[in-house]
Amino acid sequence: MPELNSVVIKRTDIAPGLMILRVAPTGWELLPFKPGQFAVLGLPAEAPRSATSLPEEPEAREAFPRRAYSIASSSLDREYLEFYIVEVKTGALTPRLFALQQGGRLWLGPKVAGLFTLDQVAPERNLVFLATGTGLAPYMSMLRTHLDAAGTRRLAVIHGARHVQDLGYREELFRLQGDHSNFQYIPVITQPKGEPEPWRGAIGRLQEFWQSRPLEEAWGANPTAADTDLFLCGNPGMIEAMQKVLEGEGFTEHTRKQPGQLHFEKYW
Ligand SMILES: Cc1cc2nc3c(=O)[nH]c(=O)nc-3n(C[C@H](O)[C@H](O)[C@H](O)COP(=O)(O)OP(=O)(O)OC[C@H]3O[C@@H](n4cnc5c(N)ncnc54)[C@H](O)[C@@H]3O)c2cc1C
Repeated sequence: MPELNSVVIKRTDIAPGLMILRVAPTGWELLPFKPGQFAVLGLPAEAPRSATSLPEEPEAREAFPRRAYSIASSSLDREYLEFYIVEVKTGALTPRLFALQQGGRLWLGPKVAGLFTLDQVAPERNLVFLATGTGLAPYMSMLRTHLDAAGTRRLAVIHGARHVQDLGYREELFRLQGDHSNFQYIPVITQPKGEPEPWRGAIGRLQEFWQSRPLEEAWGANPTAADTDLFLCGNPGMIEAMQKVLEGEGFTEHTRKQPGQLHFEKYW
């Protein structure tokens, strides 16, 4: 059984079942990582589940569930890793992560991995980061690490969530937008009814919202394959729907053999 080699140094609850968790190694050093990469968290089956969770399927029970989580912190922060996590109520690991408070111990895999990084993109090209839910995490790491040195390239985050309260990191993203004229933050919600404050922002699913050419005004032209790479992260349904739309606009998937402008990280 792996040793619980790390500790929660900060937990921020964003909304029910949605949190930001900072995890620090105890007695060992984090390895360097590239923004966009993921680490692995784990807890034993004996660890308690959150009060809000539902029972897991008995046949799905694992002795030591471990899962991948995109790193949200800057790669310049060497003391801890930050994660943005949603609770899957019947899941094996997340209900146990949601039972952790500050000081709680867990396993953090010492290796980081993943090819969903900016290494694949020439430095002068513009970047559009599309995410649903916690798929925002890798972009937080990219922006926190690189935005100050981004030069004249344009960057945009288009973040889809159900409700306003589920738009984690929105204060930080609005602040980054205010501080960087080359960066746009566009939150989009799918369920505007019942918001405590009337929502004046964008509404709809990302694949439909994209058709409204949301960057045309700020960028002076709609992004094209000639000048922009798009990163898509989170819900596989959104990624597949967006891929169809974007391929219709001339973008192609990036692979090692066939360079293109679309980069994907599917969470399940
Ligand atoms: C490269 C990579 C990076 C990831 N990064 C993150 C991250 O930063 N934050 C994060 O919350 N998750 C992330 N995930 C998903 C994560 O690895 C787990 O799958 C998720 O936390 C569920 O684990 P579980 O053991 O609780 O559920 P399981 O018992 O493994 O149940 C899995 C099922 O839960 C559902 N599911 C999985 N992820 C989600 C999700 N995010 N939202 C809604 N339903 C989901 C799917 O139906 C999936 O089949 C990432 C996955 C990959 C492959």
